[in-house]
Amino acid sequence: MQLTEKHIELDEQGIGRCSVPMWCCGMPAGFCDEPAYGERPPSKEYRDATGRLWRLDGKYDGYVPGLACPAHGGPSIRVFKDGDKFCAVGLDFEDLQTSKAGFGDTKDEAISQYKAALMAKEG
Ligand SMILES: [Zn+2]
Repeated sequence: MQLTEKHIELDEQGIGRCSVPMWCCGMPAGFCDEPAYGERPPSKEYRDATGRLWRLDGKYDGYVPGLACPAHGGPSIRVFKDGDKFCAVGLDFEDLQTSKAGFGDTKDEAISQYKAALMAKEG
């Protein structure tokens, strides 16, 4: 079972495929393959008395060799290049006219603009 490029790298739309291995009846059954927008961020971990490793952020704590979908602890914000700017959007993104989005010269700036746009909607 080999990871492919789409399990490791995002395309120009900021989309890849979740690389979490799936198992069926004790046999490898491919990958999760849900849309993934990046890698699972690192978290503090601790090992309990049985030796099991737990993530303190509560995200999926299984083996993730490459990109991760939101259900497997990956980011829920997608960032892609729009012209010479970065654009950050959420999982419910449809288009730039109707969906919340953030723009910036860097990925981080686009993400914080996107979060600000979400706050404005809720506030
Ligand atoms: Zn997944």
